[in-house]
Amino acid sequence: MTSIAERLRQVRQRIRDAEHRYGRPEGAVQLLAVSKTKPVAAILEALAAGQTAFGENYLQDALPKQEALADQPIQWHFIGPLQSNKTKLVATSFDWVHSLEREKIARRLNDQRPDHLPPLNVCLQVNVSGEASKAGVNPETVQELADAVAAYPRLRLRGLMCIPAPADDEQSQRAPFRRLRELQQALLANGADLDTLSMGMSADLEAAVAEGSTLVRVGTDIFGARE
Ligand SMILES: *Cc1c(COP(=O)(O)O)cnc(C)c1O
Repeated sequence: MTSIAERLRQVRQRIRDAEHRYGRPEGAVQLLAVSKTKPVAAILEALAAGQTAFGENYLQDALPKQEALADQPIQWHFIGPLQSNKTKLVATSFDWVHSLEREKIARRLNDQRPDHLPPLNVCLQVNVSGEASKAGVNPETVQELADAVAAYPRLRLRGLMCIPAPADDEQSQRAPFRRLRELQQALLANGADLDTLSMGMSADLEAAVAEGSTLVRVGTDIFGARE
């Protein structure tokens, strides 16, 4: 079996190759290791291999791991669906939220972010594939939500995030990522201060890097398939 350290090395190499191929500066794309459903031991292996940013989807799965790893220099990213009754713990235990899609949730996160912590970094999740069932704010209302979030002092709006519908070929994979980049550019043109495009996963990270991703979220290709 391939070790987590070896898989991490391969994913980092893929990112570097894609940066090079698509004319991105070296180091322009950060790697978020998605450790959802994976045990503490797997996170420790990745940490030992130099990975410090980890993404979790499920609060109940994440909290015991965070407790077990409290003395480790980990940056925690919440990337899953976020309901009102979970905001308090997310505001307390995470450094980033990638899946913000409603103003009500933003207000709660702002109010519940502890004073001794820096503002919570947030990305707005956008529904770029246009399917009714998919999570994320509608592209037409991104500006409105961005303006609302930017006004909250305990939140720091960093950029946009998407999870497009799966596609096999790179051209089809690139279209929704391009759309997200264009939405980001429109926000920037209107004066927003953003530095993050959270897009790309195990199966489509090259397409995302080609379209300007600054952070890819990779689970399977680092930790193996999830049960
Ligand atoms: C699970 C998940 C990932 C990682 O997906 P892989 O295909 O395992 O790399 C990335 N982003 C989000 C929001 C996820 O839920």
